[in-house]
Amino acid sequence: MSILIGPMKLHLNGHKELTNHGEVKNIVAGKKVYIPLMACTDILVNAGDYVKAGTMLAKRNDHFTVPIFSSVSGKVLGIEELDHSTGRMIEHLVIENDGKFDFEKPFEPMDAETASVEELVNFMMNAGIVGCGGAGFPSYVKYRGAKGIHTLLINAVECEPYITADYRIIDNQVEDLIYGTKAMLKMSGAKEALIAIKKTKKDLIDKVREALKGQDQMKVTEVPDQYPMGWERTLIYEVFKKRYDKLPGEIGVIVNNATTAIAFSEALKYGRPIMEKICTISGDGLKSPSNVRVPVGVSVKDIVEQIGGYAAEEVRVIGGGPMMGRTQTTDEVVITTSSNAITVLKPEPVDTIACLRCGRCNDHCPAGILPVRINNAEEAGDIKMLTKLRADQCIECGMCTYVCPSKIEVTEGVRRGKALLRAAAQK
Ligand code: SF4
Ligand code: SF4
Repeated sequence: MSILIGPMKLHLNGHKELTNHGEVKNIVAGKKVYIPLMACTDILVNAGDYVKAGTMLAKRNDHFTVPIFSSVSGKVLGIEELDHSTGRMIEHLVIENDGKFDFEKPFEPMDAETASVEELVNFMMNAGIVGCGGAGFPSYVKYRGAKGIHTLLINAVECEPYITADYRIIDNQVEDLIYGTKAMLKMSGAKEALIAIKKTKKDLIDKVREALKGQDQMKVTEVPDQYPMGWERTLIYEVFKKRYDKLPGEIGVIVNNATTAIAFSEALKYGRPIMEKICTISGDGLKSPSNVRVPVGVSVKDIVEQIGGYAAEEVRVIGGGPMMGRTQTTDEVVITTSSNAITVLKPEPVDTIACLRCGRCNDHCPAGILPVRINNAEEAGDIKMLTKLRADQCIECGMCTYVCPSKIEVTEGVRRGKALLRAAAQK
């Protein structure tokens, strides 16, 4: 069954002017960094070991393979269970940073022109390349055994308000975007690659088109400046006018984020895994919203201190953008390999009133599900109804909360509904 795509997409106030100019600030890692060990089954270092930036520390080795690398050099202090941006407590490897950033290549570079498809897929796996647009899904899985793919779609849409990091990275590293995309195109077996950019980003479109001259298999496709255009299903429908059930591969498409292509290029050219991220840290809760280059494992608190501090006594820290991001319970959470943004907002007094049954949340849901009914089912703990209403199809885009005139946190209710379904499935 293919899920419906709701008709509504909105043009949102982007607030992108807060960070789309100005330098990318370098954030220095503090005395300790905390490397998240999400789902890692193999820990490869012990307390007391000396590691370099680039040393493989651990490996996820369940149904996926994802190696984890150190972002600094120094001494391994041990493992601590800490808050993670997903809202869960997870183990982090603590490294005492010696400040030297002594680097070792964890793998040799690879020439994407001469390498075979199999070699490239294995390289991507061993380099720990994950989706850099926030999802963190291991990228090699999309290419392993890929068949019947006609198009590689590179998502450079960045539709969430406040976030400008992707555009900044693409602007700075357009050659890497093209190198990484070309390698992925080869791995996918597709005939062409389309790089999707919002049509309002004229300068960037011109720059990428110029760099693509002579690359007949790759071109830019312009998409409307609407939210949630960067969501995979919305983007695919916009470009191909097609829907799919579970994965884009069903209709012959692989989608990867533009910054993932850039990270892959860096790994191929320089033997460098993802050790640092360029993130947007923005919002009215900060004195100086900025784009920052930050080592993985550095806390939000450390970043905020280095860019001038909070603009208010009380702030709301969101991991990601304000629509799809998750409110954090502490600013001690750290930047991960898939982080791309932190939004910090001054809390606004919200007068929530009872549901008006206006149906706006239903009308605007891009997943074509019924958020208000899912909320009711969640409140009643009705697993059967949550299943029937396909709560699991929610992409947590935040649209239902955004449009609700009663100021109800509809998205949070749907999130809880999804969690109930997951818990029921695990029993
Ligand atoms: S967050 Fe709300 S609007 Fe967005 S997909 Fe989920 S239910 Fe639909
Ligand atoms: S948008 Fe808000 S008020 Fe309207 S039906 Fe949905 S939850 Fe109720």
